[in-house]
Amino acid sequence: MISSKPAHLQGVYDVVVAGGGPAGLGAALAAREAGAERVLVVDREKEAGGILLQCIHAGFGLHHFKEELTGPEYAGRVLREALEHGVDVLSDAYALDVLPDKRIKLMSAEHGVTLIEARAAVLSMGARERTRAAIRIPGARPAGVLTAGFAQRLVNLQGCLPGRRVAILGSGDIGLIMARRLTLEGVEVVGVFELMPYANGLNRNIVQCLRDFDIPLHLSTTVVQVHGRERVEKVTVAPVDDHLKPVLSKAWDVPCDTLLVSIGLIPENELSRQMNLRLDPVTNGPVVNSAMETSRDGVFACGNVVHIHDLVDFVSAEAGLAGRWAGLAAQGRRPPEDNVRLSAGENVGYCVPHSLSTEREHTVYLRVRKPMEQSVIRLSSSDGRFTVDKKVRYVFPAEMINLKVGPRMLQNFHGDALRIDVLPR
Ligand SMILES: Cc1cc2nc3c(=O)[nH]c(=O)nc-3n(C[C@H](O)[C@H](O)[C@H](O)COP(=O)(O)OP(=O)(O)OC[C@H]3O[C@@H](n4cnc5c(N)ncnc54)[C@H](O)[C@@H]3O)c2cc1C
Repeated sequence: MISSKPAHLQGVYDVVVAGGGPAGLGAALAAREAGAERVLVVDREKEAGGILLQCIHAGFGLHHFKEELTGPEYAGRVLREALEHGVDVLSDAYALDVLPDKRIKLMSAEHGVTLIEARAAVLSMGARERTRAAIRIPGARPAGVLTAGFAQRLVNLQGCLPGRRVAILGSGDIGLIMARRLTLEGVEVVGVFELMPYANGLNRNIVQCLRDFDIPLHLSTTVVQVHGRERVEKVTVAPVDDHLKPVLSKAWDVPCDTLLVSIGLIPENELSRQMNLRLDPVTNGPVVNSAMETSRDGVFACGNVVHIHDLVDFVSAEAGLAGRWAGLAAQGRRPPEDNVRLSAGENVGYCVPHSLSTEREHTVYLRVRKPMEQSVIRLSSSDGRFTVDKKVRYVFPAEMINLKVGPRMLQNFHGDALRIDVLPR
């Protein structure tokens, strides 16, 4: 791994970035490119790079670097770019708070509890996995129930197998990738059980991680009981009805010694809450404007801490935007005020950013609530007088949609609320 430059924490930093994954490192680079002189990235782990360091499979960077990289390769590149552009990286350091005057309070192995002066800040703390507690699976509490990402860390970074016979609850990407990874290590993956009638991971992962290895995917099925005293011995699974209620009369037992839970990620937003930032109740991340600025002036956010991305390339794009505006804000330049408010309409879970300016090009990221074929993304003004339609062949909740919108498309929405619906054609 590339060693990071020792940070000198005295004096005022132009931009301090909390979290050194691809979002934080990309934002730091963009801040330097925008003219910020002193930029510091703080990461709580021993090495910066984020979750990518444990993702040893390929499939990263096709958009951003125009080649297929593994997670550590992608992380290595963004770290190297940041260091080559003079960014300071302080690892083993936890960002505790960003005070109203933008001083950052951190606790580091090297410096203890420290306050760093900054002119602008970027939040990029990533996301964490939802656990068994989040969905309250009944049954005993034996060893052998763990999240898919933790299993990935055990296998890829620590060289340990979590078990020999594994069932996976949830068809999120991490679970799918672990189904393949464990199979390649000689573990028997007995099946993936998904509550919804459709898979929750990217289609390419369904094909490359399950179908290619003959691992069964049971849709509309969930785990209703975990059995075992010391260690998991089996799980009971059951199909669910149209209201997602388990049909216990049709339940069956699946012998296994491990249950991996892959039921999604949530933004790591303790810091955002601590700062009393306005949060989006759907994404659980901060509300941001088109410059990725949060409800607090001079504090920007990007990556999984704002909303969960399936591709790191889009994280890098968002980081470029947040970092650029943070770099400019540190030099006293404010982004122009947004004049269009965005809201999620029919079959749209959320959209980010939460507002736009009719003067610039933007990428709006959104997720649908349910899959739909032959659909149309419709932008409508609040009185319904103006609409703009974009046809799409199919949409899936697992695949984030990125929608390019520009001044021509937005001209009739000036000063208005713009609603986004995804409707059947
Ligand atoms: C298992 C898995 C497989 C994936 N597979 C793919 C794939 O094949 N292709 C693809 O393109 N994308 C993939 N992704 C998605 C991609 O890796 C993520 O979208 C991306 O890593 C998110 O970047 P981030 O910087 O926002 O968050 P992270 O990478 O999570 O980085 C956040 C960083 O912030 C640090 N941090 C958190 N809180 C604090 C704090 N208070 N103080 C200091 N530091 C803090 C953390 O230690 C971490 O280093 C995958 C993700 C996972 C989890």
